[in-house]
Amino acid sequence: MAKVIDSKIPAGPVPEKWKEYKAHQRLVNPKNKLKLDVIVVGTGLAGASAAASLGEMGFNVINLCIQDSPRRAHSIAAQGGINAAKCYQNDGDSIYRLFYDTVKGGDYRAREANVYRLAEVSNNIIDQCVAQGVPFAREYGGMLANRSFGGAQVSRTFYAKGQTGQQLLLGAYSSLSCQVQAGKVKLYTRYEMEDVVIVDGRARGIIAKNLCTGKLERFSANAVVIATGGYGNTYFLSTNAMGCNCTAAVQCYRKGAYFANPSYVQIHPTCIPVHGDKQSKLTLMSESLRNDGRIWVPKKIEDAKALQAGTKQGWEIPEEDRDYYLERRYPAFGNLVPRDVASRAAKERCDKGFGVNNTGLAVFLDFSESINRLGIDIIMQRYGNLFEMYEEITDVFPGDVANEINGVKYYKPMMIYPAIHYTMGGIWVDYELQTSIPGLFAIGECNFSDHGANRLGASALMQGLADGYFVLPYTIQNYLADQAVWPKVSTDLPEFAEAEKKVDAEMDRLLNIKGKRSVDSIHKELGHIMWEYVGMGRTAEGLKTGLKKMHELEKEFDENLFVPGTKEGLNIELDKAIHLRDFFTMGQLVAFDALSRNESCGGHFREEYQTEEGEAKRDDENYFYVGCWEYQGKGNEPTLIKEPLEYEAIKVQTRNYKN
Ligand SMILES: Cc1cc2nc3c(=O)[nH]c(=O)nc-3n(C[C@H](O)[C@H](O)[C@H](O)COP(=O)(O)OP(=O)(O)OC[C@H]3O[C@@H](n4cnc5c(N)ncnc54)[C@H](O)[C@@H]3O)c2cc1C
Repeated sequence: MAKVIDSKIPAGPVPEKWKEYKAHQRLVNPKNKLKLDVIVVGTGLAGASAAASLGEMGFNVINLCIQDSPRRAHSIAAQGGINAAKCYQNDGDSIYRLFYDTVKGGDYRAREANVYRLAEVSNNIIDQCVAQGVPFAREYGGMLANRSFGGAQVSRTFYAKGQTGQQLLLGAYSSLSCQVQAGKVKLYTRYEMEDVVIVDGRARGIIAKNLCTGKLERFSANAVVIATGGYGNTYFLSTNAMGCNCTAAVQCYRKGAYFANPSYVQIHPTCIPVHGDKQSKLTLMSESLRNDGRIWVPKKIEDAKALQAGTKQGWEIPEEDRDYYLERRYPAFGNLVPRDVASRAAKERCDKGFGVNNTGLAVFLDFSESINRLGIDIIMQRYGNLFEMYEEITDVFPGDVANEINGVKYYKPMMIYPAIHYTMGGIWVDYELQTSIPGLFAIGECNFSDHGANRLGASALMQGLADGYFVLPYTIQNYLADQAVWPKVSTDLPEFAEAEKKVDAEMDRLLNIKGKRSVDSIHKELGHIMWEYVGMGRTAEGLKTGLKKMHELEKEFDENLFVPGTKEGLNIELDKAIHLRDFFTMGQLVAFDALSRNESCGGHFREEYQTEEGEAKRDDENYFYVGCWEYQGKGNEPTLIKEPLEYEAIKVQTRNYKN
């Protein structure tokens, strides 16, 4: 029988909760310059915004990242935009509507109160970023512009061309730099957290590796915040930056932090298809393209076969022979259905043989209609850098006219296919973003908090910045308030020495295996197992096979890995080996969770549980909970702990994007 935990959500109707809660908080006056230290691990949007805000509030912040500059955190990859309920388009948007769309988009598996709070602070984020000088796109009259993202029938996405993440990160970085200059934030670039140190049951510090010298260093503080991103790279091929890893989160999990909903992994429908087995990275084509691009495959199987054989091109297929399958299946949302729905629909068409490239694993994203309607200049203004990125990778420019049939111009369509993109699961946190280890907090993509079983487009940046600018800086004070009387612990404590010794011994172990296989070759194999058995369509049988194969491959890793070089100085292969060790733990966790959840919801699709139309079939009676996992040692099955979900403001129902 699984244990049940409480998320510490205060009682009361949802819209009141956050206000009530705020009123009861023991808020520390931000003007007081406190002598409290906080470690923030990560300088992506979540980490940089949190470090800057905590510094501004007077805390002494130690901020670490693995890149050579916070500006190179993975968050710069974000293209399409960030959501907020400003209702600038006067299209009926509201905080409630953003809250509702997010809960529905997450297939009713998110914690309702958290999502309400997120929607409530969404507008403040835009104001904050505008004040920092983030160059959001504007209308001709000067108002901030918006576009639409999946799962919403309003236009609430704020954007800066196709570089929204980069611009937001530059804004956060400028605030962070102010605090570095003021002496409140001490920045450690090229440092990697290898372990969290627990003293008397509380997180009191970390062990970090200086990636340039190879030396291990100890950091102590009154609280530790991890903002280290998601675990998408467990699948090897993903849209995530190459450096993304889950080592910090997995170490916290090993030290007792619960890991929540690991099986909720997002597969994004619009990525450039895999083109060979030498690839190490997949490229996202932003969801914003679905505002004007239409997704289709041929209606006739013989056309599909000709496309696969290369004897026909997409632009030779006339309008009447095209199947705009999303518009056909989901008339109300069309091409803007949520990502999980769009990805499954693409897979369904390709599985039926309608794929449009030589592997049969691609569909078209076509701008012919919108270019004919709006003109190429407008389309280039909106998506210019994305079209150029696509051309650089595929040598096809989607704005090039390719054919004319009955007076209608046809442009070269993009080819896209679903790929691993984002992880909704993450370290379990309560309403205050504190993990199950007191003093340890998790924010941004590395926590599980707001997206349920599927994240809506443009909501990750919203959540990361909500956590960093507006939630954590308040909630962490509830923990730190009684820490004011605690002295900062010394890094000479045996707990630090022991943690450091273990990290050091692990590096020796990996270096001394002296086998024959490179880290990448094993990681690639793990990725194949994950995609094949723990990917877009899962079955109990497949998951068991996947787990077995992962165990075998982990044994191979432990016995036949080759890591060149030494511990001293820069050793990227050693760092990758540490990451891969943790991807194994993560991959198994994803599979355990997927196996235990006998239902389909959002990004977790168990083929045994689907409706006649192939939609995800939830089982609210038995699975209306957050599945949290507690580590039980290497090779042992983790323990499941349940946090029951409670919905008060939203009626839980079957998701419908058809009408
Ligand atoms: C191609 C792409 C496009 C996207 N577009 C959008 C979009 O348009 N809108 C949207 O809302 N979302 C988008 N997303 C998702 C969004 O970008 C991410 O979810 C978000 O940026 C994550 O931010 P983060 O701060 O939580 O983590 P990250 O940006 O991943 O930052 C993690 C930080 O932790 C540090 N770190 C990691 N491990 C360690 C360690 N062990 N020790 C020390 N430091 C460590 C890293 O150095 C980094 O600074 C996109 C994602 C991708 C891949």
